[in-house]
Amino acid sequence: MTAKNPIERLTDARHEFGEHGGVNMSIEASTAFTVMKPGTMPDLFEGRKTAPEGCYLYGRHFNPTVYNLGRQLAAIEGTEAAYCTASGLAAISASLLQLCDTGDQIVASNAVYGGSYALMHDFLPRKANIRTHFVDISDLAAVEAAITDQTKVIYAESISNPTLRVADITALAALAHARGLQLVIDNTFSPLLLSPASLGADVVVHSMTKYINGASDIIAGAVCGTTDFVQSLMDLHTGPLMILGPTMDPGIASKISLRIPHLALRMGEHARRALLFAQRLDELGLEVTYPGLPKHPDHQLMRQIHCPDYGFGGIFTLNLGSAGQADALMDILQNKYHFGFMAVSLGYFDTLMCCPGSSVSSEMTEADLSLAGIGKGLLRVSVGYTGTVEQRWKQLESALQDVGVI
Ligand code: PLP
Repeated sequence: MTAKNPIERLTDARHEFGEHGGVNMSIEASTAFTVMKPGTMPDLFEGRKTAPEGCYLYGRHFNPTVYNLGRQLAAIEGTEAAYCTASGLAAISASLLQLCDTGDQIVASNAVYGGSYALMHDFLPRKANIRTHFVDISDLAAVEAAITDQTKVIYAESISNPTLRVADITALAALAHARGLQLVIDNTFSPLLLSPASLGADVVVHSMTKYINGASDIIAGAVCGTTDFVQSLMDLHTGPLMILGPTMDPGIASKISLRIPHLALRMGEHARRALLFAQRLDELGLEVTYPGLPKHPDHQLMRQIHCPDYGFGGIFTLNLGSAGQADALMDILQNKYHFGFMAVSLGYFDTLMCCPGSSVSSEMTEADLSLAGIGKGLLRVSVGYTGTVEQRWKQLESALQDVGVI
């Protein structure tokens, strides 16, 4: 790990010119690639030459445009390599399937995105006999106690969805490596502000659908890790990206690459507004959770590991006590004040609001929702940056008054 700020790492990475010297990289639309000598083809298929260095092969394998976007992700995350996928869940499932064989086990945080929970809780045991022990990832003794001889992976989100607990990645990496395990971190909530690989994570996954793309118009993911790991995902016989085929379209890679240059500006502004709103809600005596507040249980940890230029993230939660109250607030915020949208997802330029207990975390059992602390009245707010700050605050304050919360 060399550079400090992820944006400095990105700037240090070679800028890819377009085919004719264009300032933007070209879109390589071909699904098949020519070899100049007949012997190259068997070399590629039999592993004596590896794409992309040897030569490109086929669009479900490495594509140059997607590969170049991957290089940018690797620079941001400070990993040797990265490759992009059709979705965040494709990145997560490919990574777990590559690291675990049938009979292996995962120790995972009990507070993860509902789709990731469903993958580990329901899909992997049924389809691949890969079982997961869910634990409170902040309780290192519980993490350690859950490790068995079959465990291959510790899995957590850098900032958990939607409970906003911050994983102690350094401690988890030490624990994982002492037991010969791999630490996989989903950094979807905290691009730029946290660099899990620099803290010891072996694999970093992203749903680029969220902040990295930032416009809620593209589903995409990325896996960042060693060159060997990224190559292994594309192995012609056993690589989950090659065999299951969650391929990113090169046109999509090009679009995302045009949004990465303003990721730093966006993350800074999301975080600035989220902190301000969280502070004001806290002053009003509301039950607000935000890692930037000193009262947050992981505030000190976050201060030690985050890149201060990008603050504490763009998401806060508000516990309204009941589903009825949370629904009433969202309704007024969207339909009366146009503060934001009642919608899943996050990292959009406008504010997005949902109640995870009945939406993005509803794959979890009632017992697991309660263990993770996801109540029905919990409102997750992904703070956007449209409008002026004071205009948005006035809308939020008025809506809180309308529902009688303040
Ligand atoms: N990881 C986290 C933390 C998420 O919040 C989500 C989706 O909400 C995903 C992964 C899945 O990403 P995608 O929808 O791009 O597959």
